[in-house]
Amino acid sequence: MQIFKTKKEINDFVKQLQNNRQTLGFVPTMGALHSGHLSLVEIGLKQSDVVVVSIFVNPTQFNNPNDLKNYPRDLQKDAEMLEKIGCHAIFAPSEKEIYPEEDTRKFELNGVDKNMEGEFRPGHFNGVAKVISLMLDIIPADKAFFGLKDFQQVAVVKQLVKNLHLKTEIVACPTVRETDGLAKSSRNLLLTPEHRKHAGIIYEALSEINKNKHQSIQKIKEIVSQKINQNGLFKVEYLEIANTETLLPISDEEKQQQCVACIAVWAGDVRLIDNVIIDF
Ligand code: AMP
Repeated sequence: MQIFKTKKEINDFVKQLQNNRQTLGFVPTMGALHSGHLSLVEIGLKQSDVVVVSIFVNPTQFNNPNDLKNYPRDLQKDAEMLEKIGCHAIFAPSEKEIYPEEDTRKFELNGVDKNMEGEFRPGHFNGVAKVISLMLDIIPADKAFFGLKDFQQVAVVKQLVKNLHLKTEIVACPTVRETDGLAKSSRNLLLTPEHRKHAGIIYEALSEINKNKHQSIQKIKEIVSQKINQNGLFKVEYLEIANTETLLPISDEEKQQQCVACIAVWAGDVRLIDNVIIDF
C-alpha cells in the first residue's frame, strides 16, 4: 500500500490507473479509522479495481475549534488497518496542500444542507462541499463511498456532484454499529466510560419509532427524546423526521413519504449523531 502526501503524487498514481483502464474507488475520511470506515473500503474493493482512502481532518467543516483540536489522529494505526484489508493507497495531505490559500466559495445545495446538521453546525456542510469538491478534482474516482451514518452528508454530496456535473457515482453504504447499537464513530473514543456504557440508548430509542408509528410526529419526537434524556447523561440537541430526498421535516399528513429520523445527542462534551429509516 502506498501513502501519498501531495497532489502531484496522487495525481500521477491516478493517471497510471487511467492508462491501465482500471476503475477507481475513493473513500474520503478524517482518519481515526474504525470498522465503519473499513466497511466502506471493503464495499469499494468489491466494486472497483483500486481503492484510495483519503485521511484529512478538514478544518473548514468544523464549526467548533475545540472539536477540531480534540479530533483523534493516528495515521500509523490507520495505515496498518487499511493495509490489512487490501486498500491500495492512502492520500494524507497537509492542510496547506489542500488549502494553499483561503477557500471562500459558497455552495448552493438546493436546501438539503439547511436543516438539522445544517442548522446546528453553521458552515459545516459548506466546508464538506469545499473539501469533497477539491478531493474529487484531485482524485476523479469512478465511485466514491460514503456512510449512511451521516445521512444528510450523503444527500449534500449527491447534490454537490450533480451541481458540478462530476462523473463520480456516490455510493451510500450502511451504518456499522457496536453490539449495543451505538453507531461506530471516531468520536466514540472521546466518550467517558459512563457515557459509553449507556450510549446504546440512542439507537434503542430510535428503533422504537417503528413501534410508535401510529402516534403524531410531535408525540414520537417526545417519546424518543424523553427516553434518551431521562437518565441525565445525554441531551438530545435535535430529533427530526425528514423526507429522505429533500431532508425537509415531514408533517403528519406526509407520513406516507420515505422518511428518516435523524438525531444529534450531547454525551457530555461529545456530540453524537445517528439516524434510522422509518417505514410508516
Ligand atoms: P469521517 O471520518 O467521520 O468523516 O467518516 C468518513 C466516512 O465514513 C463518511 O462517509 C462516514 O459517513 C463514514 N462512516 C463513519 N462512521 C460510519 C459507520 N459507523 N458506518 C458506516 N460508515 C461510517
